[in-house]
Amino acid sequence: MPTSTQTTWPEGVIARYLTVGGATIDLTHGNRDYPTDDGIGENRNHTSAACTGCPAAEEFSHWRVVKRMTFDDRVRNPEAADRDARDWAQCHAETCRAMPGPGQP
Ligand SMILES: [Zn+2]
Repeated sequence: MPTSTQTTWPEGVIARYLTVGGATIDLTHGNRDYPTDDGIGENRNHTSAACTGCPAAEEFSHWRVVKRMTFDDRVRNPEAADRDARDWAQCHAETCRAMPGPGQP
């Protein structure tokens, strides 16, 4: 595993994985407003993982549905989303052989 590829990370990148093809997968946090039925809308945070070598990307919501006795509740759990994103990035890094395109670090 090469360790000499120490480049400046883009702003907001919380974790970076090196793929076997030499590209990177960047993990970032993001916000997006979703419309809801009541028209108020809600803001949902997520952790996204995106490969710079190929179009593969995944989003992991910070909100998890928790079953209560009589209703489903949403609980914010960024750590779980980060963990899922890291798992996805690790898995993709081991299989992706796409080279980073021109202009990529
Ligand atoms: Zn890839």
